[in-house]
Amino acid sequence: MPIYEYKCTKCEEDFEKLVFGSQKVTCPKCNSSEIKKKMSVFGMSGVEKPFAGTSSASCSSCAKATCTSCH
Ligand SMILES: [Zn+2]
Repeated sequence: MPIYEYKCTKCEEDFEKLVFGSQKVTCPKCNSSEIKKKMSVFGMSGVEKPFAGTSSASCSSCAKATCTSCH
């Protein structure tokens, strides 16, 4: 499920929120809707890719080493 990191542009509060569809996100501190989406995370911050350990993967779109469908 998608967890997004937001920063409120009014009070500078950083927060994470689960977002389903086009659900409106507001700051939990000042209730402002003037927020910026930072990045998508999955319970972990600072991780660039979930497949970072599979360096032998030749396909970047499906992360499989023996990919024949995406090449
Ligand atoms: Zn705020």
